[in-house]
Amino acid sequence: MSKPTWHERANSIKIDGRALINGQRVDAISGATFENISPIDGRKLGPTARCDAADVDAAVAVARAAFEDRRWAGKSPSERKRIMLKFAELMMANRDELALLETLDMGKPIKYSLSVDVPSAAKCVQWYAEAIDKVYDEIAPTNDSTLALITREPVGVVAAIVPWNYPMLMASWKIAPALAVGNSVILKPSEKSPLSALRLAEIAIEAGIPAGVFNVVPGFGHEAGSALALHNDVDCIGFTGSTRIGKKIMEYASQSNLKRVWTELGGKSPNIVCADCPNLDEAVEAAIGSIYFNQGESCNAPSRLFIEASIKDQFIAKALALMPSYLPGDPLDPKTIMGAIVDHIQLNSVMGFIESGKAEGATLLAGGNQARTETGGYYVEPTIFSNVNPGMKIAQEEIFGPVLSIFTFTDLDEAIKQANATAYGLQAGVWTSDIRKAHHAARALRVGTVHVNQYDSDDITVPFGGYKQSGNGRDKSLHALEKYTELKTTWINLA
Ligand code: NAD
Repeated sequence: MSKPTWHERANSIKIDGRALINGQRVDAISGATFENISPIDGRKLGPTARCDAADVDAAVAVARAAFEDRRWAGKSPSERKRIMLKFAELMMANRDELALLETLDMGKPIKYSLSVDVPSAAKCVQWYAEAIDKVYDEIAPTNDSTLALITREPVGVVAAIVPWNYPMLMASWKIAPALAVGNSVILKPSEKSPLSALRLAEIAIEAGIPAGVFNVVPGFGHEAGSALALHNDVDCIGFTGSTRIGKKIMEYASQSNLKRVWTELGGKSPNIVCADCPNLDEAVEAAIGSIYFNQGESCNAPSRLFIEASIKDQFIAKALALMPSYLPGDPLDPKTIMGAIVDHIQLNSVMGFIESGKAEGATLLAGGNQARTETGGYYVEPTIFSNVNPGMKIAQEEIFGPVLSIFTFTDLDEAIKQANATAYGLQAGVWTSDIRKAHHAARALRVGTVHVNQYDSDDITVPFGGYKQSGNGRDKSLHALEKYTELKTTWINLA
């Protein structure tokens, strides 16, 4: 018998949009739900629990109880490791289902849900599991008559509030280090993509994570999200999302219990290509591939391309030749590499930016239109503007869609100055054969990550996060453990 197609599987997949609190699937206390629409073709994916402050109170109470009785925090690191390794293994065993949920929910190609999102999320859980019994505390070099212990303790109840662009991966970057060190976690997925988070928590429980330790409250930001951020019994928020909402979360923390707030926010990343770039074809492929990956809905997408004037025409000709391969296709077709925009709100926002680029006098070189409208889904052609001025809206604001803005430069320092001239500071790229120029640019760029002669390398061992209004703290790597632990010092009198 031949394997069912992804469309056939999509038609028969069981979807449960209820919350998960204390190990149980539950409706919102109010009974309210919202309809979850797939951006692929506008199909209804079923009702999702519309959690609000009452559900958040319930989730926080069980998470607190689980933390206080140490059913998870009290386990040895090697025991937590064993359970989390099982969790990662089960994620991979459920790879097809998780990938399909992700694609149906937010429109990314099934090819990438399968090859990137699920394996990267599982790898993240596995990596923190393996790390946690290899992290030691410290003894300070004090005098003979005292002993000063420096230890890390779980912070308590951690709320993870995450966006829709990589729903499972962004969730994993928070929950894996937070759980590994012994916290209780409440995950609030985006209302645009709640499904994989709910399955993830079920799988975690199947792996042996005790009930109450990992809870999921789907719902809207202004209801479930704000209730978490304002809650006096939540100790820490790991937030990934827009800079606008990141600022609100910090306000909520200051209005309530000064909970720790860690933010991973928006970006407007520059990619600078010098005339002495070692391989122009690679630079073009990386520039185009990275801005259009995930339909341009990536925080680190290199949306501002600075090309040295002498290679501009050559670069653009090569870029335009690649455009047909990035035309949007059916996300459930395994050959598709460009899928749907997450919903009609984001679609209208992206189209609004395209209109503003035209109105402000940038030159539209490619795309600029909606696509596949006959499907009932939300698709945008890959779009390029040249002759963009730094003051234009498309040069300053995060579009979060498949839109590239091209600038030219003759002086590298001038390009770096422009590259730094936004509110953001997430990532940057620089392409040159001159190691001194590469180092000079890497030092001068005010961003969390600089890519030299490539873009978008990624590894769980490497910190990820931004400068300026792209956020604080770092996801991934051992540095993420700092966010979900308190540092305690204990002085012991030995005299
Ligand atoms: P968003 O800020 O609108 O929403 C993010 C989350 O916050 C969602 O779960 C949402 O429901 C919740 N939320 C909304 N209003 C809230 C409120 N008042 N109180 C509490 N929670 C609230 O962002 P989005 O549109 O989901 O995601 C796109 C943004 O995420 C982009 O700006 C992107 O750059 C950013 N992002 C950053 C990174 C990073 O690592 N720096 C990674 C991925 C995405």
